[in-house]
Amino acid sequence: MVVGAPEIPLPMWIRPAMPHPAPRTDQPRPLAVVIEVAMQIMKAHTLGSYGCCAACHMWWGRLAPYPCVQVEWAARVVSRGMTERFLTAVGER
Ligand SMILES: [Zn+2]
Repeated sequence: MVVGAPEIPLPMWIRPAMPHPAPRTDQPRPLAVVIEVAMQIMKAHTLGSYGCCAACHMWWGRLAPYPCVQVEWAARVVSRGMTERFLTAVGER
């Protein structure tokens, strides 16, 4: 903002939605936090009837074959976390 400039009322569609910029969300989160979320996802997405994921069916009405995409992602994250802990414990990291 230029100091001394006249205050010109802007149309609603030009004004920013928030007076302050939103906090940055693209910062990497600690691996421990991501692992905790992944563990919660793995607990929620379980084998349901007909071989489908129970959580995907309950929340989104999807008949996703188990393991669903969410469980596969969570399993990869958890296994990566276990690998990181192991490599840290043996001094490789
Ligand atoms: Zn699922």
